[in-house]
Amino acid sequence: MRMSQHFGQTLRNAPAEADTEGYRLLLRAGFIRQLAAGIFSYLPLARRSLTKIENIIRQAMNDIGGQEVTMPVVHPGDLWRETGRWYTIGDELTRFQDRNERDMVLAMTHEEVVADLVRHEISSYRQLPRLIYHIQTKWRDEPRPRAGLIRVREFTMKDSYSLDQDEEGLDKQYRAHFQAYFDIFHRCGLPVIAVRSDVGMMGGSMAHEFVYLNEIGEDTLFICDNCGYAANREVATFNRPEAIDEPPQPLEKVATPNTPTIEALAQFLDIPKSKTAKAVFMMATVADETGNHEQFIFAVVRGDMEVNETKLANAVRAKSLRPATEAEIRAIGAEPGYGSPVGVHDCLIVVDTAVTISSNLVAGANEAGYHYRNVNHGRDYEAHIITDIVSAYAGAPCPQCQHSLKAVRGVEVGNIFKLGTRYTEALGATFLDKDGQSRPVVMGSYGVGIGRLLACIAEHYRDENGLKWPITVAPYQVHLIVLPGDETAPIAEKLYVDLQAAGVEVFYDDRDERPGVKFKDADLIGIPLRLTISKRSLEQGGAEYKRRDSDERSIVPLDEVIAHVQAEIKALQAVIDTEVKPVPFRA
Ligand code: ATP
Ligand code: MG
Repeated sequence: MRMSQHFGQTLRNAPAEADTEGYRLLLRAGFIRQLAAGIFSYLPLARRSLTKIENIIRQAMNDIGGQEVTMPVVHPGDLWRETGRWYTIGDELTRFQDRNERDMVLAMTHEEVVADLVRHEISSYRQLPRLIYHIQTKWRDEPRPRAGLIRVREFTMKDSYSLDQDEEGLDKQYRAHFQAYFDIFHRCGLPVIAVRSDVGMMGGSMAHEFVYLNEIGEDTLFICDNCGYAANREVATFNRPEAIDEPPQPLEKVATPNTPTIEALAQFLDIPKSKTAKAVFMMATVADETGNHEQFIFAVVRGDMEVNETKLANAVRAKSLRPATEAEIRAIGAEPGYGSPVGVHDCLIVVDTAVTISSNLVAGANEAGYHYRNVNHGRDYEAHIITDIVSAYAGAPCPQCQHSLKAVRGVEVGNIFKLGTRYTEALGATFLDKDGQSRPVVMGSYGVGIGRLLACIAEHYRDENGLKWPITVAPYQVHLIVLPGDETAPIAEKLYVDLQAAGVEVFYDDRDERPGVKFKDADLIGIPLRLTISKRSLEQGGAEYKRRDSDERSIVPLDEVIAHVQAEIKALQAVIDTEVKPVPFRA
């Protein structure tokens, strides 16, 4: 491509709202443009990189038996009613009516459509296993688009769906994806780790997220450097302390003025926070076919721990949670700042396991300025649900090896999901097994956000001057610059033609611009190899060669340029290929 004809331009400054460095560079280098919040156009440079990423993914999917399809972006609302997600998903799912006033939705994911296809296409065990995938537009009306392509509303996803007779088949395809995803991200140059994640709204029995570790990420992960345990904060566990077997003491009401927080209370009574029970009041939205209902959730955790909203929402099967108001808290017989489950009514009491194994805790007396000493679960109140509802924390003992956990932030670029029969059962997507029994097809679903992946690569490969693309996903392989001089133009023109004839992808800066501008743009755009034809380089015997990731420059004789560039591309490619290794599966 001749830069004089190229569509798109570099910018000296990025718009002020660009909130990460990678995003700023993608804007400045002329890769992407924002049309509206979370809605982007991809200019030719980005399009080329995206196509490369998509082809890497396509190859990996085909290698594990995937068959490419294309499923629609607009779905009938009735299909989403059949699986119940019409009711359970909030405003993230955009609903509208067509001209005949039929409810429609914009695809935010494709489990429904896959299950619908399956119920029509698959009838016998002989047609299983199968794996289908597409690379297609998704629309999610995200409340907070941010960081450029990292969180957008319209994006492209590769989503694949495995179809099996049983859990064993699913496990096989799941593991195949686990490895394929590592291969994909390695080929794109992006370091990732796989962590256990929440199965949440999707239902299912196992999920892993592939996470690029970076401070810009919205996800917090807990990892263990000793044994390799890694889990999203949403599901991370830690080794719970042993039960303290103290005989229960009599309940005792004590005046504790001005102690609405656990800190103040522990200080006032001079006890460790772990000897207190903390009350957290939430309103849960729970959905069913008749609509949404609110339910008061009284969560109890030990004073030294924090409630984990994902775990809590899962425990009570809530669509969403919000803090309860003071009036709502008083309505169940509790008192804000001095609440305990002793004597409350009309609420669902959910208690963390650590509380039920600790005796004689200090908890609120449901009266301002008073607490009870020696509150014991089972004697003084009864939980409706006892489960893990607290967050892991930095320094908590690893659930596998007791070593202390580390908290890190990251961006989820892909995830894999054992769905099971949640969707196929709802839609009646069944097959006849060997014995002639009708059974629902067992599904898995597996996503990679293409734009988010591009954005993470941009975030990872850059310096103060611009982007530094890995060879596999760079929009072009070579950035050819011609500078003014007697002979330079015809030589550069010929090199441009010859390189392309040799199969090299060349971005050719043939513009009438100052050398400084050309070099700055080359650094900004970040194509891995740079060739410059200038008066000086010709005097020195050829073209100046420089890699974007190195300051070294060398002169390559003109008749050796093509072979040199091809060898360099091959070498860069080889580095990436050697990184593609089997990764042990961690459940
Ligand atoms: P997140 O927790 O970040 O919202 P998710 O769990 O909703 O992600 P999935 O539904 O599993 O994501 O989608 C699969 C992949 O699609 C994600 O791993 C991510 O790469 C991408 N993705 C999801 N939501 C967005 C978004 N709003 N913008 C860009 N990419 C996205
Ligand atoms: Mg999401």
